[in-house]
Amino acid sequence: MTTAQWSLVIHGGAGAIARSQTPPDTDRGLRAALNAALEAGSAILASGGNAIDAVEAAVRVLEDDPHFNAGRGSAFTFEGVNELDAAIMDGSDLRAGSIAGVTATRNPVTLARAVMEESAHVLLGREGADAFSAEHGLEQADPDWFATPERRRQLDELLANGGKFDVDMKYGTVGAVALDSDGHIAAATSTGGVTGKRWGRIGDSPLIGAGTYADDRGAAVSCTGAGEFFIRESVAFQINARVRFLGESLQQAADTVMAEVKALGGTGGVIVAAPSGDWAWSFTTSSMYRGCASADGSRRVALYDDEG
Ligand code: ASP
Repeated sequence: MTTAQWSLVIHGGAGAIARSQTPPDTDRGLRAALNAALEAGSAILASGGNAIDAVEAAVRVLEDDPHFNAGRGSAFTFEGVNELDAAIMDGSDLRAGSIAGVTATRNPVTLARAVMEESAHVLLGREGADAFSAEHGLEQADPDWFATPERRRQLDELLANGGKFDVDMKYGTVGAVALDSDGHIAAATSTGGVTGKRWGRIGDSPLIGAGTYADDRGAAVSCTGAGEFFIRESVAFQINARVRFLGESLQQAADTVMAEVKALGGTGGVIVAAPSGDWAWSFTTSSMYRGCASADGSRRVALYDDEG
């Protein structure tokens, strides 16, 4: 593939979810949502649009879909509220924006983009980020918009279990990486975090270099999984750096860093794209909801590890 072409890779979270645990209508709903996200991002890229617009558009579709742990359908905190994290980064100039612990913005990825474009900062948190969102006219949503019965059930289960984190955690974070026809890459990630989080816990997703990174000289990366391990490994920056400084292929860099996460005791996955047109995904879980589309007309979505 040449840089005159485009590609888009998305994820809807990694987890220990077997095919047999997924009801047919959920399977269909997940695949339909991933296809809709690919459609939204691809339409932008196919008409010559920017990678940054494409990743935002793809992530917004997944944020609005209750199947995923981002926007509507986010995991609940220990106290039973939704606190959302998101980040976006433009590989052409290393501009980045992110938000953590916001409660009222319908599309957190768009708030991250507003931080990138309309503030002097990179990362805004909690009440301040909520205030920035309202002041900048972003669409607000009531707590009921984000809350779903299935996420409430997961919190109840965790609380009944003494508040211990479930090793079979269903992550469900969403993300996108893209290459546009001008040869620029971008990445975006959005999440409700992990069920039962407390004390203002912030994961890897909104941390530039941990869960999200993009640099035209290396790679665009979006992560999902046990955020604490991704922070400790600087997963997104490390994949970019291995590509940029060591000349590793995307697959080699992604597999190597995911093996390091696993060695620390963490699980999850990554999606990666580069200006060369190369793209990759890598995950250590039994499922990672994912999809890819490119200028040659190919498009596919997959949920489980046996789908290639
Ligand atoms: N990485 C996210 C976090 O730790 C969770 C996920 O990927 O679903 O907040």
